[in-house]
Amino acid sequence: MEQYNQETIKSHFSHPHPLKLIVYKQTLNLTSPCSACKIEPSGMIYCCIMCEDHFLHQRCFDMPKKMTHPCHEKHSLTLISKPSNRNEHFFVCDACSERGKGGFSYHCKPCRIDLHLLCAVMPLSVTHDSHVHKLHLTFESYPEKKFSCNICMNTGSRQWVYRCKSCGFDAHLKCATGDAPSVHRPPSQTKEPAPRQAATCYTLDPSAPQLPPMQQRQNIMPPPDPPFE
Ligand SMILES: [Zn+2]
Ligand SMILES: [Zn+2]
Ligand SMILES: [Zn+2]
Ligand SMILES: [Zn+2]
Ligand SMILES: [Zn+2]
Ligand SMILES: [Zn+2]
Repeated sequence: MEQYNQETIKSHFSHPHPLKLIVYKQTLNLTSPCSACKIEPSGMIYCCIMCEDHFLHQRCFDMPKKMTHPCHEKHSLTLISKPSNRNEHFFVCDACSERGKGGFSYHCKPCRIDLHLLCAVMPLSVTHDSHVHKLHLTFESYPEKKFSCNICMNTGSRQWVYRCKSCGFDAHLKCATGDAPSVHRPPSQTKEPAPRQAATCYTLDPSAPQLPPMQQRQNIMPPPDPPFE
């Protein structure tokens, strides 16, 4: 009989079979991405002992079933593995405005909020080579007008930004955390940012208290090169 000493085998609400914790090797020939975050395997993964191709990153496996996020403090967010509305195949992430592509989300049912796993654990502040000050995660989206990202020079709307309030410096989440391919453009390709009309309709109360620390694992950084597109 096979010994399961020294092995970690656990079940996860998202999958009917037990999952075994292993170190990812290319020889495993996994062809599907992580069911939770839809990113390629790396590091420690929980692999289904029955389905050849089903795995979760250890960090995705360990994500809490519920979390309170400073973007939405009135309700806790629940981790779901399928869109809550059966008629919708994809959720749209309220943080980055990209589609979920079948991965898990942190969901608030009454408010119809969905966050990608990795967006839900974005650090509340980051530093980036392109700006001397810390950039703070800002949840107030630009509902109609677009903002102009000072890192990739493209615009964005209906999504969170990393912002230096005193300089009016805005950046996409992916740009500020270094995941965008356009981050390190040669200087010859950079151009002046578009005029920032959005700034006039966007104010933060300077007397507002500091955001509370995220209650869950804010130290998780996304891996260096997720195929978000
Ligand atoms: Zn994952
Ligand atoms: Zn399975
Ligand atoms: Zn997202
Ligand atoms: Zn809510
Ligand atoms: Zn950008
Ligand atoms: Zn600044």
